[in-house]
Amino acid sequence: MKAAAYARYSSDNQREESIEAQLRAIREYCVRNGIQLVKMYTDEARSATTDDRPGFLQMIKDSEMGLFSAVIVHKLDRFSRDRYDSAFYKRQLKKNGVRLISVLENLDDSPESIILESVLEGMAEYYSRNLAREIMKGMKETALQCRHTGGKPPLGYDVAEDKTYKINEHEARIVKLIFEMYASGKGYGDIIHKLNQEGYRTQTGRPFGKNSLHEILRNEKYRGVYIYNRSVSKQAGKRNHHKSKSEDEIIKIEGGIPRIIDDETWEAVQKRMSKNKKSPASNKAKEIYLLSGLIYCGKCGGAMVGNRRRSGTSKALYVAYECSTRKRTKKCDMKDVSKNIVENAVIEHLEKNVFSPEAINELVDKISEYAKSQSKEINRDIKAFTDQLAGVQTEINNIVAAIAKGMYHESMKAKMDEIEAKKANLTIKLEEAKLQAQTHSPTPGMIRNYLQKDADIKNKSLEEQKCIIQVYIKKIIVYEDRISIDTIVDLNGGAKGI
Ligand SMILES: [Zn+2]
Repeated sequence: MKAAAYARYSSDNQREESIEAQLRAIREYCVRNGIQLVKMYTDEARSATTDDRPGFLQMIKDSEMGLFSAVIVHKLDRFSRDRYDSAFYKRQLKKNGVRLISVLENLDDSPESIILESVLEGMAEYYSRNLAREIMKGMKETALQCRHTGGKPPLGYDVAEDKTYKINEHEARIVKLIFEMYASGKGYGDIIHKLNQEGYRTQTGRPFGKNSLHEILRNEKYRGVYIYNRSVSKQAGKRNHHKSKSEDEIIKIEGGIPRIIDDETWEAVQKRMSKNKKSPASNKAKEIYLLSGLIYCGKCGGAMVGNRRRSGTSKALYVAYECSTRKRTKKCDMKDVSKNIVENAVIEHLEKNVFSPEAINELVDKISEYAKSQSKEINRDIKAFTDQLAGVQTEINNIVAAIAKGMYHESMKAKMDEIEAKKANLTIKLEEAKLQAQTHSPTPGMIRNYLQKDADIKNKSLEEQKCIIQVYIKKIIVYEDRISIDTIVDLNGGAKGI
């Protein structure tokens, strides 16, 4: 089997293994299991909760090319810490015939493993959010002293040794020019022309554009307000499902930093900006299709895809799934099916058959049993590594004792180096196994809790609904007179195929 490795290291968690350590573990796993490693993808120093992962996205893209049939990660949370994200990309890999393998988590494709996997992902996600909260706390404390918390300071400011802001006179002149020109009624075009004529550049060294001007003119820092909000980290990734409850994350301190713009100019600029504000851009809300990748046409077997159109004299919006064959070639005459109707049917089906109290009881039992069998394996590993480590220590002690008795021989040094390397290797393995035992053995209570949260599917956001559906639904086939729904667990409250 050919496989690709994926490793990720996020700088906001000092406790995690380095890229090198992750790749080493993956390489060892491949050797043990006769897997040929053909490609390696890495992302470094990026936050775990953003989607800014060029290596990852490249790997997903390359999975279409048939170069490898598995992606191997050290731990599942390296793949993703967001359940929706994970379900989405895993499905994409699956479509391309690529399997996800974790070195530390021993997961197969049984219903128990799929659900356990989603429980583990939920735990990892929770952990990530907690960590984010901890980091936020630290940053807030720093922030409250009106200090710079990272990144480039805004145009017009430098960061002093003690991390406070001080005015950069040269840049402050540019800021003043921008504010004064705008306040006096000049347009963006005039201002940009003037700035470029003078050879001025933005903080990132680029010529000024409308967006950079807009940002500057709206930045309250210029009137001396210290602002801290976590959108700093949001800039790193466009998509963020756990968008902060932004208001309570924003800290503003009036007079917290030296001002560049006086109140009068500031007010004039804000007034003019509000007046010029266009009506909100007609941002077409992006439709979220809960059943993407799961729903198929009963006539031709093709995938059904989401579609929205306006129809009739009233131009009412009609959102539906339609047969991709029909859409593409007209060779199928399957009618489309209303998005609402089929999605509601699927959710009701899940509530009745997978999330009924009886079904949950049975699932909790099955999954706990499965998790226990998994942790048995870990505990066996822990014992084996502990025993081997004790053996190695005895060898070391013997050599030390021999040397102490004056029986030194040249060959002892080489031998000692070899044993020390063995010891280091075993220690790492033991630590890994212990970590796994600790963080990856959910109790029955945790599993129940988790399933019950999923069971509340009706009250979840669309993104969350989509991710639950992606876990529990295998396939949906739409016929003209009925819909067939295949879940990973059986209709009568029992787990299927167990
Ligand atoms: Zn069709």
